[in-house]
Amino acid sequence: MPKIVITSGGTREKIDPVRYIGNYSSGKMGRALAEAFATVGDVKIISGPAEVHYNQSVYSVHRIESAEEMLSVCLADLPCDIFVACAAVADKRPKNYSENKIKKENLGLIELIENPDILATIANHPRRPKYVVGFAAESENHIENARKKLTKKSCDLIVLNDTKVMGKDENEVWLVSKDEEVKLEKASKDEIARQIVEFVMRRHLERT
Ligand code: C5P
Repeated sequence: MPKIVITSGGTREKIDPVRYIGNYSSGKMGRALAEAFATVGDVKIISGPAEVHYNQSVYSVHRIESAEEMLSVCLADLPCDIFVACAAVADKRPKNYSENKIKKENLGLIELIENPDILATIANHPRRPKYVVGFAAESENHIENARKKLTKKSCDLIVLNDTKVMGKDENEVWLVSKDEEVKLEKASKDEIARQIVEFVMRRHLERT
């Protein structure tokens, strides 16, 4: 049974004990992928805050909050066969965490620093999984941006969708690899996930 690790949900980057930087990721696509991959392998989902309920009887679930926590759990899970980065990771986090609640007069400027790129780190790791999948949510120049991401992050496949699908139950995607561009017509996220799994498993088996 292949071991499959999936990141899902969003991340929360703490500012002080009551505030954080976050995003609207619902976790719906990550959950759909976990369920579809569970039919072919052992799945672990590593998720930040998400509105969906994960079915822990079908796959294992590790909850985290920040990008740094997500990265360290992903690294601890290597080696694995297939890695799917579906999470909406916050690009930046506050440079300093304040132990005390920041007075609102002092909230005008919060200095941000870059978060680690989890997908790129895993894809360039000496114990790289055999097949690495990233997501790209684009609002313009879709395929061109997906191709750039494929190379920049050393992925085997980019699942490209439009930013508009965030939180929705349906999705419409392009599967972009070095030699292929496959359109998956608009369907439920569960159906899209099943087709992604079929595609990935075929390519993964060709390599093993
Ligand atoms: O660069 P961008 O955020 O558009 O890339 C999206 C892909 O990279 C997604 O697969 C996402 O899960 C992953 N990512 C990551 N760590 C980051 C930023 C993005 O794993 N810090």
